[in-house]
Amino acid sequence: MIDEVQASAILSVDLAALVGNWRQIAAMVAPAAAAAVVKADAYGLGAIPVVRALVDAGCRHFFVAQLSEAAAILPALPHDASAYVLNGLMPGAEPACAATGAVPVLNSLDQVARWNDLARSERRVLPAILQVDSGMARMGLLPQELAFLVQERDRIDHIRLLFIASHLACADNPKNPANAAQIANFEAACLAFPSIPRTLANSGGSLAIPVSRNELVRPGLALYGINPVPADETPLQPVVSLQARIIQLRNVPAGAGVGYDLQFVAQRETRIATIGIGYADGWPYSLANCGTAYVGGVRVPFAGRVSMDSITLDVTGVPQRHLFPGALVELIGPNQSLAQVAADAGTIPYEILTRLGRRFARRHVFASPIDTSMNRSTAECA
Ligand SMILES: *Cc1c(COP(=O)(O)O)cnc(C)c1O
Repeated sequence: MIDEVQASAILSVDLAALVGNWRQIAAMVAPAAAAAVVKADAYGLGAIPVVRALVDAGCRHFFVAQLSEAAAILPALPHDASAYVLNGLMPGAEPACAATGAVPVLNSLDQVARWNDLARSERRVLPAILQVDSGMARMGLLPQELAFLVQERDRIDHIRLLFIASHLACADNPKNPANAAQIANFEAACLAFPSIPRTLANSGGSLAIPVSRNELVRPGLALYGINPVPADETPLQPVVSLQARIIQLRNVPAGAGVGYDLQFVAQRETRIATIGIGYADGWPYSLANCGTAYVGGVRVPFAGRVSMDSITLDVTGVPQRHLFPGALVELIGPNQSLAQVAADAGTIPYEILTRLGRRFARRHVFASPIDTSMNRSTAECA
């Protein structure tokens, strides 16, 4: 835990907004169930507090990418909840997976064989999801391999199948005909196991492609307040805010260069504020000379490059009362959305979120996003 007074930046995660987003999706997709995708430490926001809040809200299905991530969240799950490992099982990882109680998403006949062998040797039945590749060519059994398992039932005779899964390549664009093609392939493949529930939709599918919802949806990004479908109007509440502290202030004369390579050159006498966040904290280097922040609600441009641990801002237009060492500057918040930062940096919100650094003080709050006035207290929940 990094103390907020020492910390150069504070990341605030609004768990009430997160839960609100999950509830909204759950209501929208009913009677399908809504899972939560919490891989990569809940997209960088803290898997344990996120999982706890969603468990309290009634979520019982949690997807991660790796076995170690499942092991990390399982102690926070009640007995009727499951942690599913999307990347499946590395060869040799089967006993560890069975011992932790994680449910693998089996992606190949080889993974199926190793999981079934382990279950047989331990004289037990082990749960699994079978993933089929419906047209993304990333992970999963081929549809004919799924059909083959029906003919050779002894290959899965020690596996309890919970779901048949697949993943959409183009759900962020619901009009892309590739979605309908994948849905048709998936439905045809699932006919091999007509009684097993299906799961296909990520955030984009959950929100904007109703026919993809099946029995269980798997939203990730939407829970964290970002709608990946540009045209979709479902209102999601923002979950993340990020503020960095001013380390130091100075005035530089016209003609002075600022930062690495002196890339910013002051056109007039300029006030520079240096804030304590940089690319080592996941703030994109590509925002050199084009990023913005907000101080006291005033938009301020980056002056020059993004350093490893700091960024220089041109704060000439900001009232003096907002400018002092330790003052908080908004990088994600009411004035600047995460989606806007991603667009400015030429990347996707997923990448910004999952790279946000480990040097921040992290607040998990049950309140709306903090403002930049510093003095407002916010309810904390360890
Ligand atoms: C990451 C992932 C999801 C969640 O995707 P979002 O776009 O964040 O909703 C769902 N399913 C699979 C297989 C994934 O890899």
